[in-house]
Amino acid sequence: MSNVVLVKSGSNPRASREKTVRGTYFVQTWGCQMNEEDSEQMALYLQDLGFKPAVHPAEAHIVLLNTCSVRRKPEDKAFSFLGELREFKRARPEMVIGVAGCMAQIRADEIKRRNPHVDFVIGTAQVSNLPVIVEEILQTRRFQKRLALPERKGAVVTDLPQRNLERKGKLKAFVPIQYGCDKFCTFCIVPSTRGRERSRPTEHLVQEVRRLAELGTKEVTLLGQTVNSYGKNMAEGRVPFSQLLRLLCGVPGIERIRYTSPYPRDFKTDLIEVIRDVPEVMEHCHMPLQAGHDELLKRMKRLYTVESFTTIVEEMRAAVPWIGLTTDVIVGFPGETDDEFQGTLDVIERLQFDGAYTFRYSPRPSTPAAGMRQVPEHVSAARLKKLMEVQNAITVEKNMALVGQEFEVLVEGRSTRQPTMLQGYTRCFRMAHFPGDPERYTGQIVRIRAEQGHRWGLSGTLL
Ligand code: SF4
Repeated sequence: MSNVVLVKSGSNPRASREKTVRGTYFVQTWGCQMNEEDSEQMALYLQDLGFKPAVHPAEAHIVLLNTCSVRRKPEDKAFSFLGELREFKRARPEMVIGVAGCMAQIRADEIKRRNPHVDFVIGTAQVSNLPVIVEEILQTRRFQKRLALPERKGAVVTDLPQRNLERKGKLKAFVPIQYGCDKFCTFCIVPSTRGRERSRPTEHLVQEVRRLAELGTKEVTLLGQTVNSYGKNMAEGRVPFSQLLRLLCGVPGIERIRYTSPYPRDFKTDLIEVIRDVPEVMEHCHMPLQAGHDELLKRMKRLYTVESFTTIVEEMRAAVPWIGLTTDVIVGFPGETDDEFQGTLDVIERLQFDGAYTFRYSPRPSTPAAGMRQVPEHVSAARLKKLMEVQNAITVEKNMALVGQEFEVLVEGRSTRQPTMLQGYTRCFRMAHFPGDPERYTGQIVRIRAEQGHRWGLSGTLL
């Protein structure tokens, strides 16, 4: 490893000592926001050990893959990336390669068998052990595998001592409030990869959000597999999700709070009241429908019906008519008939979501749905195409209907699509593009008027 000297100081006593740069790291992430957040934490740990980010994996001393198992495609990508790394490691045998995340949790032995050049595999509950594991490998060069998941349902998560210590200020941040899931939908592998539902203690969350605000964060997104069941299994001192939102909104400097994803059955009136009454809580809800037919929902073991889901949507729109509603839908779930698929299309037409993530069912090993009668690929592909056409038309129409209206936007900086424009999200989670000076407006909350509606959002002008 190289030994370039770097001096870094900060308010954290561990950061204020002089540090030697020991090398570089590269983290490749697939999957959800929870993985993005885990990757950020792992990067912070590696920085704390004295490693700096590398631009390309070929030149990094430590390469970490944070994997996803929710569908087959990201797993294939991770294996193919590991194949590329084999050549890099051949050229530089001192390279340390680690695999983390959901695929690591459930396919650790296979990963090592197919890729002997991997130095460590860690599961989803091992993020905070990364520094110890890396140090051990650097010293011993012996393969490490750590996969333990907390067994106890409802256990409070307290093992993240490093969170935020050396985090740089950023405008928007993710805050996991809960890990794992107790719902066991028949298509989903998450309860195996992330374990039983555990909530982080409320005071830790307040502390973390306070720290983020001090560092300049204005918007936080609370993360959980079923985020609104936060605290449900806490043995004592249970704080319901709606109350947690109220508490976090009281943190000075936090101007916007989002959350993802709520579970429909646990969505109650108290949460609708918070969306309606608390200005920092954004008027947007991403609530996964998954299917629009009760038989399909039953086979998926989703614990609600089309009717009960519809009631929540109606109540939200009655309380906050401008709320942005988005959803997830799976097509081609085992045994899905033409009638059942038509039921999903009908619900999509009726509920008029502002946007939807649509997916083709992908069998996951050891899940109940993987053993059910599968829908032929060409059928599910055609259904996905149809569903996307229907939803895209709704999205465009809804965005065009907003032309002329004013929106509050948190400016994130130059648009990635159109670098001459600024970009940011409205309160109802529409991407907005508009001309403006990035120096002056980045990080500010501004008002814009929508002038055009698109599939991806709105374009407009500053007011
Ligand atoms: S609610 Fe269902 S789909 Fe969501 S993480 Fe839990 S088991 Fe998976």
